[in-house]
Amino acid sequence: MKLKIALQRSGKLAEGSKELLRKCGIGFSHGGDKLRAEASDFPLEIFFLRDDDIPDYVADGVADIGIVGENVLAEDPKPIEVLERLGFGRCRLSIALPKAAEYAGLSDLSGMRIATSYPGILRSFLSNRDVLADIHEISGSVEIAPSIGLADAVCDLVSSGSTLFSNGLREVETVMSSEAVLIAQPAIDGEKAVLLDKLLFRIRSVIAASQNKYILLNAPLEKVDEISSILPGMKSPTVVPLAESGWVSIHSVISEHDFWEVVDSLKRAGAEGILVLSIDQMIR
Ligand code: ATP
Ligand code: MG
Repeated sequence: MKLKIALQRSGKLAEGSKELLRKCGIGFSHGGDKLRAEASDFPLEIFFLRDDDIPDYVADGVADIGIVGENVLAEDPKPIEVLERLGFGRCRLSIALPKAAEYAGLSDLSGMRIATSYPGILRSFLSNRDVLADIHEISGSVEIAPSIGLADAVCDLVSSGSTLFSNGLREVETVMSSEAVLIAQPAIDGEKAVLLDKLLFRIRSVIAASQNKYILLNAPLEKVDEISSILPGMKSPTVVPLAESGWVSIHSVISEHDFWEVVDSLKRAGAEGILVLSIDQMIR
C-alpha cells in the first residue's frame, strides 16, 4: 500500500515541492526525465506532471494527493479538497498595462482587450465590478501581447514584477493572491488515510518550522522578566546562567512574521549577542 502524490515536473513549484518532501524526511532519486519515482523511506509513489493536469489526476484518483497553485484551482475548480497552504510558490494574478498608459481606476479597463491564461478568474473579477472588457485567452508568453499588438493589457502571474517591468508593463490591479497548496481526493480512507495523516503531520511540522526562528541572547539577570515578556516561546523561554555571574542566556522561538520588531524590542530591553537560527522541524 502506497500513497501517490502528484508534483509539478519542472517549473516554479517543482523545486519547492521536492524540498518539502525532503524536509519531511522522504528521500527519492529523481532522474530529470522520469515521470515516476518511489520514495525510499516512506510508502509514497511520486508522479511528475504538468501542473495543470494535477487537479484532474487527483480528482480521478490516479494520484491521492498533489501540490498545485491556488490559481490553477480557482481557474478550473475540481472536486478535490485543499488540505494545507504550503507557504511557497507565492504569486499574484495581476492586471498590467503598458507603462505609458493612463490608469485612474477599474473603469479604465472597459472596452480593453486583456490577454490572459486565466480567463475564468478574470471574467468573474471584472463582472463582479461591472467592467466590460474583451478577454483574450492565450496559453503562454502573455506579457508580450501588448507589444505585438494582440492586446491593450494583460492579466498574468507576477511574483517580483521583474518580467512585467522588462516588458514595459506596470501592475495596476491585483486579481488574486496565490500560493502552493496540498490537495487530496476527498474519498481517501483506511490505510491510505493513516499514511496521509502521517505525512500531513510532518508537513505541518515543516511549515511551522519555516515560519519560526530559534533565538539565543545574553542578558543581565535583572532583565529576564522584561525579556521573557517579549519572548513567549513555545511554553516559556529557557534561561541558563552564563559563566559570568549576573548574566544569563535566554533561548526561545519567535515568529518570522514580526521578527525584526521583536529584535528591536530585545535590544532596547538590554539583550546582547543575539543569535538567530533556522528550525528544521517544529512539533508543538
Ligand atoms: P507546466 O509546464 O507544469 O504546465 P507552467 O508553465 O504552467 O508549468 P509555472 O510557470 O512553472 O507553470 O508556474 C507554476 C505555478 O507556480 C503557477 O501556477 C503559480 O501558482 C506559481 N508561481 C509562483 N510564482 C510565479 C510566477 N512568478 N510566475 C508564474 N507562476 C508562479
Ligand atoms: Mg501549466
